[in-house]
Amino acid sequence: MSTAAGQAGTPAERGARDDVLVRARGLQVHFPVSSKGLRRRRTGAVRAVDGVDLDIRRGETLGLVGESGCGKSTLGNALLRLVEPTAGRVEFDGTDVTALSAKALRALRRRAVMVFQDPYASLDPRTTVGQTVAEPLQVHSLHRGTEARAARVAELLELVGLDPSVASRYPHEFSGGQRQRVGIARALAGEPDFVVCDEAIASLDVSVQAQVLNLLRDLQQRLGLTYLFVSHDLAAVRHVSDRIAVMYLGRVVEVGDAADVSARPQHPYAQALLSAVPLPDPAAERRRERIVLSGDVPSATRVPSGCRFRTRCPRAFSPCPDVDPALQEVEPAHTAACHLHGVVGVPVAAGEHTGA
Ligand code: SF4
Repeated sequence: MSTAAGQAGTPAERGARDDVLVRARGLQVHFPVSSKGLRRRRTGAVRAVDGVDLDIRRGETLGLVGESGCGKSTLGNALLRLVEPTAGRVEFDGTDVTALSAKALRALRRRAVMVFQDPYASLDPRTTVGQTVAEPLQVHSLHRGTEARAARVAELLELVGLDPSVASRYPHEFSGGQRQRVGIARALAGEPDFVVCDEAIASLDVSVQAQVLNLLRDLQQRLGLTYLFVSHDLAAVRHVSDRIAVMYLGRVVEVGDAADVSARPQHPYAQALLSAVPLPDPAAERRRERIVLSGDVPSATRVPSGCRFRTRCPRAFSPCPDVDPALQEVEPAHTAACHLHGVVGVPVAAGEHTGA
């Protein structure tokens, strides 16, 4: 699945590109807002994803973290083209997925999949676990024939730590953790390369969360998977991720190695999020200074001008209302979008000020 665009550039640029499985550039997902009544007209847009640049490297786990409603799940959906982008580009293995035909999109659905948050809601209560796991095999015409398909279902159930004999049982007979294992088995049926785990442990008990995280890590090593791990839980994200991307109001505001972002967060929003994560050492926990942000997250229909975080930022200063900061390198392989690291960004055009 390569394109002419995927072959362009110098050998060094091609090498760096080959290391990247999923790439987003200028990605936007805006949902129209209309007036009520008979003569509905468009009055604005929810800017759920609003200009995201992001690379996800082969074999890594990229943690995507931010408060509820910041656009994380919409971004995960847009990368898989489960929602249509309003603008921008997503490349999967060098191919522009925003321009795929229906047939090519079916092939993408096999290679790039989603594990959902709620394992009960995502499983059909009237369908046995075996039928659920076999569904992608039918859709993609894999392991044809009753015996071959049953053997593959048994293999997948074993892969996620379930006894193959459970194939004839129904979702209500399973615990939350077991149901999530079924969801993972179904996601892996088509032998994907890329898995978006969208709040995949959020609805599980804490003790079960650790088991599912360990399973995901084990599967990644065995199958060479690439993960986007979407979560509001920064402690879990730190635990599983190679790199972390922090998202605020539709935009990625910081990206770097998990250890670097955890030890030296550069964006004031990332600093506030990290200051709220409990520390395992009781003495360090007592010394920890928590940064409490004022106000609520602004509406995604009225994104503030300049830096979108400025209405809550404890360190906002003169350029922040006027210049939209671009992601820039603040240390090797660590980028942040904040004027505290030098005023580089996009000036706001006259009349473009919105919000506070
Ligand atoms: Fe705060 Fe300004 Fe940095 Fe935005 S650009 S995070 S408002 S200091």
